[in-house]
Amino acid sequence: MTNYVSHLECAYSGKRYDPGEIHTVSEIGKPIIVKYDLQRIAKEVARSSIEESKEPGFWRYAPLLPVSSKRNRVSLGEVVTPLISLENSGSIFGGDSSSVIIKDESRLPTGSFKARGLGMAVSMAKELGVKHLAIPTNGNAGSALAAYASRAGIECTVLCPDNTPEINVRETQMQGASTHIVNGLIGECGKIISGGMQEIDWFAVSTLKEPYRIEGKKTMGLEIAEQMGWSLPDVIFYPTGGGTGIIGMWKCFQELIELGWIDCKLPRMVSVQSTGCAPIVRAWNKGEEFAEYWDGAETISSGIRVPSALGDFLILDAIRSSGGFAVSVTDEETLEMQYEIGLREGLLLCPEGAATVAAYRNSLDSGLVSSSDSVVLFNTATGLKYPMPEVVSSIDKNNVDYSYFSSK
Ligand SMILES: *Cc1c(COP(=O)(O)O)cnc(C)c1O
Repeated sequence: MTNYVSHLECAYSGKRYDPGEIHTVSEIGKPIIVKYDLQRIAKEVARSSIEESKEPGFWRYAPLLPVSSKRNRVSLGEVVTPLISLENSGSIFGGDSSSVIIKDESRLPTGSFKARGLGMAVSMAKELGVKHLAIPTNGNAGSALAAYASRAGIECTVLCPDNTPEINVRETQMQGASTHIVNGLIGECGKIISGGMQEIDWFAVSTLKEPYRIEGKKTMGLEIAEQMGWSLPDVIFYPTGGGTGIIGMWKCFQELIELGWIDCKLPRMVSVQSTGCAPIVRAWNKGEEFAEYWDGAETISSGIRVPSALGDFLILDAIRSSGGFAVSVTDEETLEMQYEIGLREGLLLCPEGAATVAAYRNSLDSGLVSSSDSVVLFNTATGLKYPMPEVVSSIDKNNVDYSYFSSK
């Protein structure tokens, strides 16, 4: 198979770029996105052929992806992640909770949805002959890049700020990346990587600084559409850092409409951030086109600790055009919800995922959404990668008193 890419273009100015070449950002420093010949896809690809695909996970959407040769698809056994409805959480939301659905991305390789974007970026790097990939990361992007680059036999270097969760730094090293801790913030790691692009031929796969991570992340929207019988929920809550996912999903919904594969109302897109780092929420509230840098970013939800996003204008546009909104939650609300959902539903959410649940509850309370809306909340990684409360109860095997258990 070849691919159906027609051209690449600057997401801000529309300037066109040649898909056969290696690209970073556009001339004006904005993200470059991939455009497809949708009329040809509509003619040559039946929606039912997607449903019958035996390819692993997001590779079932190959006709809507940029990789030309099957040989270049780098795969670690991706799965279509499940939609899990919350059955026992009615008391949290003040009613029936079964229309509240978690898209559980923790089941992907490396335990987070970063596998989608980096799997695609590494596959395209392989196709275009890139030799050395590099990334600045607060966590999950590093390990996903490491895993896919190692699988592809491409070298990679990962730079982590010194407050990156220990587990992410270690898992990255264990999956084959040259891994380094930097005494600085993510932006400063990014600067070192920009230097490496000039000095030693690194290629940066930082968020939105190359065209293909969005294409991987958009498959979340394709999966939801297919899983819901080529229909979509009323509202999607997405924990937003660099925003690749919200931008990607909004992009693929337009593609699906143009293809004629869906004809439903599009979901309202809700961007969820933490009160300790909420540049998109602030910009949304002020009605701005771009988001200002957030000073002193601090939150336990490290995946959304992103003070400045290159695609800010695309995130804000997706929220606006969809009739959605942006909200922030406190770390306390996030931790409370992580505990509640584990207790009631048996799902160990990551803090970023728990933040979407807290944001949904707050939005119900404030009337931004209604309990009759069908909603999808994103759990973007496994909770196993994050610190958990210590177990403090202990039992003396020589002196077991069963009343101790029943008193609990
Ligand atoms: C990276 C990350 C996010 C944010 O994703 P974007 O698409 O970049 O906004 C959310 N949650 C987790 C766990 C992450 O690793």
